[in-house]
Amino acid sequence: MKTIHCVTQEGEAFTILKTEDGMYCCPVCGSPEFKEAPYNEDGTASFEICSCGFEFGYDDSPLASGEAVEGIENNWDRWRLKVIEKNSHTKSDLENLENNLKNLGIELAFDLIPVKRNENT
Ligand SMILES: [Zn+2]
Repeated sequence: MKTIHCVTQEGEAFTILKTEDGMYCCPVCGSPEFKEAPYNEDGTASFEICSCGFEFGYDDSPLASGEAVEGIENNWDRWRLKVIEKNSHTKSDLENLENNLKNLGIELAFDLIPVKRNENT
């Protein structure tokens, strides 16, 4: 996994992950489904929509989405809880999501609370 460091114009720093075979992971659900980076190094978004429903540049922007909160990463966390809830009803959906979240270093605790194993990788 490669780590790409991004900093927005507002000064928020976060990382985007790219798999060895060149696919970018969704920072919300971990799905490695993007050929283009969801965010560039200057923090600008691709405006692609992930299979988890999150639109980069829209669902992370209070100027665009009424539900969005301040801070891109806060919106990833906000949306991730929805994705977990949505996938918690069948075992196979949940296993699939858990596998993707592992890409982000996130594990689900027994009560489905997302836990980050290591903050800065
Ligand atoms: Zn996603």
